[in-house]
Amino acid sequence: MNKTITYLKARDVEIALANTPQITFEVTDACNLKCTYCAYGDIYSDYDERKNNVLSTQKAITFLDYLKRLWESPLNKSYKKDIYVSFYGGEPLLNMHFIEKIVDYINNELNCRTRVFTFSITTNATLLNKYMDYLVQKNFNLLISLDGDEAGTAYRIDLAGHPAFKKITDNVNLLREKYPEYFEQKVNFSSVLHNLNSVEGIYTFFKNKYNKNPIISELNDMGVRREMKVQFLNIYNNSAESLRLSKHSKKIEEDMFMKSGAYYSASIFLQQYNEFVYKDYNELLLGRKRSYIIPTGTCIPFGRKVYVTVNGKILPCERVDHKFALGQLSDNSTNIDFEYIAKKYNNYYKKLDTQCKSCYNKQACSQCIFYIPDIDQNKVACHRFMSKEVYEEYRNNQLAFFANHPDAYYKIMTEVIVK
Ligand code: SF4
Ligand code: SF4
Repeated sequence: MNKTITYLKARDVEIALANTPQITFEVTDACNLKCTYCAYGDIYSDYDERKNNVLSTQKAITFLDYLKRLWESPLNKSYKKDIYVSFYGGEPLLNMHFIEKIVDYINNELNCRTRVFTFSITTNATLLNKYMDYLVQKNFNLLISLDGDEAGTAYRIDLAGHPAFKKITDNVNLLREKYPEYFEQKVNFSSVLHNLNSVEGIYTFFKNKYNKNPIISELNDMGVRREMKVQFLNIYNNSAESLRLSKHSKKIEEDMFMKSGAYYSASIFLQQYNEFVYKDYNELLLGRKRSYIIPTGTCIPFGRKVYVTVNGKILPCERVDHKFALGQLSDNSTNIDFEYIAKKYNNYYKKLDTQCKSCYNKQACSQCIFYIPDIDQNKVACHRFMSKEVYEEYRNNQLAFFANHPDAYYKIMTEVIVK
């Protein structure tokens, strides 16, 4: 008789949602730019068709009311937990009505005593001149998409194909002039690395111009249309390679710290393999018991965030193909079936279990199931599987990193907070 293994229970998912640290609303799927590499553009296929829709405020309010009931139930583990409410797009400032309504609802009507809300927005900054006063007044965390200097930002173009660099930087400069303290404390930048820029070029631009360390991301290689593979590869640029080619790679890496791939990877390594890292007080006081339980490195659904698309689909984050929706919102109801979600994840885990059990990096795995190709097929394989030899090479590389960066161990152990 086949033994059925239950890795994840419906209750685990419900608890994760009741304690989720972030809600992200896709405010609109419309955008006033048409960046060449856009995750919702011609290169990719893993999202719902873009129809210039807006998310209904009623749907969002229904969802907030639903979450409030969870926050006030025994599933809630925190008396006053910080929670981020994030606005994402498309270009979210194209639907300012939604943002104002939801911020007002949370501040004045939701009446939730168990959560402390912080608002954040990811924007292309082209409408910032119109709305900066409001964002500053509500103390938003602002993440601005900009890929470095004018040449490096050449793929960010408006609907008529004109470069958007000047419009973006004019608005950023205006914000800095008008609200210098806010700019210093609450504004950050997100850059996409591609064949027209480099890690060093991006780093130097933001350091010199705004004294900021941007988040630098590679192009997503999942969901690329078959017929667009060549175009994708033409513009793709690998961040480790780009950094290696920099004249000042060590200095840049040290200054970027956890925003650099090498420090991030070293931190994951320490979290998993260093006996002096404790996830919480229970581990510190009662001992460290980390045994392998769930295959892959996928987060518990809603454990990191809950993402609501413009069409009311509920997903575990914005990086997951919309076909993997875990629930659906309507104006009057929230439809999340925790049993269904647990079953769906358990089916995926089961497919990977044998491979993961023999993987030498299972303790520190960060592979998301939704990024394993053809996960809905019967037979699937993880391409990041580590044999003993591959693992030893990985471990030796991590140890070599600490040998070459003598301050890294102390810095990671004292400055990085494990959540
Ligand atoms: S990519 Fe996967 S593991 Fe990462 S937050 Fe999204 S669902 Fe979770
Ligand atoms: S990297 Fe290893 S543990 Fe992680 S999903 Fe792949 S096979 Fe499983």
